[in-house]
Amino acid sequence: VQTESAGSQTSIKVIVRIRPKNQNEMQSNYKTVVKVVDDKMLIFDPKEEQNPFFYHGVAQKGRDLLKKQNKELQFIFDKIFDVTSDNNDVFEGSTKDLICNLLDGYNCSVFAYGATGAGKTHTMLGSGEDPGITYRTVAELFSQIEKQSEQREFNLGVTYLEIYNENVQDLLHKSGPLHLRDDGRCGVIVAGLKIITIQNAEELLTLLAKGNKNRTQHPTDANEESSRSHAVFQVYINITNRLDGQVRQVKLSMIDLAGSERASATGCKGARFKEGANINKSLLALGNCINKLADGAKHITYRDSKLTRLLKDSLGGNCQTVMIANITPSSFSYEDTYNTLRYANRAKKI
Ligand code: ADP
Ligand code: MG
Repeated sequence: VQTESAGSQTSIKVIVRIRPKNQNEMQSNYKTVVKVVDDKMLIFDPKEEQNPFFYHGVAQKGRDLLKKQNKELQFIFDKIFDVTSDNNDVFEGSTKDLICNLLDGYNCSVFAYGATGAGKTHTMLGSGEDPGITYRTVAELFSQIEKQSEQREFNLGVTYLEIYNENVQDLLHKSGPLHLRDDGRCGVIVAGLKIITIQNAEELLTLLAKGNKNRTQHPTDANEESSRSHAVFQVYINITNRLDGQVRQVKLSMIDLAGSERASATGCKGARFKEGANINKSLLALGNCINKLADGAKHITYRDSKLTRLLKDSLGGNCQTVMIANITPSSFSYEDTYNTLRYANRAKKI
């Protein structure tokens, strides 16, 4: 999806990942409310499979007429990853292609969106056996850098921060709350945030582990606190052309967003997300920014939240954005899944 915005190009790719049902969902016999048609199309709340007896279009007798109609909503996305996909499949089909653009000078950002328990952290961080796409993407970055090292010199630094209740905290270096500052030349910076240089992807794993220990709650705890914070991992790359000495800086941002269960989407595109007492300000502001970008709006408001201010140079302008909407297939999470699909759908261009 290409969107013209104030003379520049923003591309937003919207991907859906469906996690397998967990044990509880299997045992309790929850219905499956997501039917994958192919790698781009799914049906939410599909009509029940017809009894094969009535194959030839004959109406089913004795059907419960009082039963609520299924929504049978068809959604189309750039890519859908079914329950059998692992993190490598998701990496190959989502962020791998970003690296080229990144090294060509486009800032890139990747978001994991979805309700608590839908698989955001599994997708971004993963586990020891199946590392998430953050590690895989950085490993790919190092491999591509290697190939270009005769023409260009690369210097990489990473930051890892958390936004919790609109407070910014460095996860790699214990500090008090950090402030965002508008620096005329460099855009918005986080004053006092430590940038740590890394030489290979393995160093990154160590840093991610260290950062996660410092999170308000460990990201794998499915509890209130961890579900309310955004974990923002950023890679800064300085690229020096060995021929003419020209230097440019690009940035890759990978974000494990707060649980979306409190940010219910309004139905139609272009409308503002509802605000309420408990709703995560950064999540709402991000939704509004992405919708506007997808709709090709000229004026985007970034100053509504910490997250959007921080990512101003990584959303608008010459940027590539990948939104991974995480859902569960079980009717237990019917409303969350419905809301996530609508949010993801709104992120696409009309
Ligand atoms: P979130 O970060 O969105 O709250 P998690 O990533 O912590 O959700 O996932 C919730 C649980 O489901 C975790 O135990 C996680 O290991 C498991 N899980 C999530 N996605 C998958 C997947 N694709 N395959 C297997 N297990 C998954
Ligand atoms: Mg999580």
